[in-house]
Amino acid sequence: MNATPSDVRQFHDHSRHWRDFRYVYPVISRRARGLSIGINLNPDKRCNWNCVYCQVDRTAAPVVEHIDEQRLFDELTCVVGDATTGTLWREPSFVSTPHGLRLMRDFALSGDGEPTSYPRFAEILDRLLRFRKACGFERLPVTLFTNATLLHLSRVQAGLALLSNATGRVWCKLDAGTESSFQRVNASRYSLEHCLNNIAALGRQRPIEIQSMFMVYDGAPPPDEEIAAYIGRLAWLVEQGTRIERVQLYTIARPTASQHCAVLDDDALERLKLKINAGIPALNVESFSGAT
Ligand code: SF4
Repeated sequence: MNATPSDVRQFHDHSRHWRDFRYVYPVISRRARGLSIGINLNPDKRCNWNCVYCQVDRTAAPVVEHIDEQRLFDELTCVVGDATTGTLWREPSFVSTPHGLRLMRDFALSGDGEPTSYPRFAEILDRLLRFRKACGFERLPVTLFTNATLLHLSRVQAGLALLSNATGRVWCKLDAGTESSFQRVNASRYSLEHCLNNIAALGRQRPIEIQSMFMVYDGAPPPDEEIAAYIGRLAWLVEQGTRIERVQLYTIARPTASQHCAVLDDDALERLKLKINAGIPALNVESFSGAT
């Protein structure tokens, strides 16, 4: 029997802690429709945004501050080996995974902060691509989750060039249409305009995806003017020649550190999707409900 998303308990369990590992964590991902091998390049929990919906508990001190790259790749070797041999699926946290989801889908550079802030971002990406080839998974995508703040840096662009030459995907966050909303939701020392310019510059070079979180904030859904401004920003990106393969609309699916935000219901997400497509019909928009 095919599992529906709401059948799958693991979709709600995106813990970045597995066994005694420090950097690598396997998750069953709804966006990947299977096993995503997460790599946390920010175990120190530092981030240059402070999103109101962030799931990282920064009240607890980090277990590790620095990345031991050899250990990271030892952990990767172990997870890939366990997924390949089937050992992973016998573990208590994975044993109930439906068979249709027991497929390795991607390596995901995500974690407890902005992955591109890791100073050796390009070097570790280079090693990851060589690792992937050595294990025989050259076609397995590497997905970078980014808030786009640092995409203009040459050291980050060196890593992005490696991704473009491989099976790489870049998913950029865009959660707001106005600067005031951006600062309320993402709390950054960078401006919305800076991030948009970085997204446009990258999207002119290679296809990207946009990930947008919408939620109920202090009991209220996003106001109409904010939605209109957000759609205006998407339209601007398209006008700039940004190749947007997909806009992913999602809402809160797991507990957040802040009490301000709550899940946006499926109907509101669907209405948002329809509004975007009414304004920009060519855009591929997909929504992921908070219940999945
Ligand atoms: S960018 Fe990601 S890690 Fe950083 S605060 Fe926002 S949700 Fe958390």
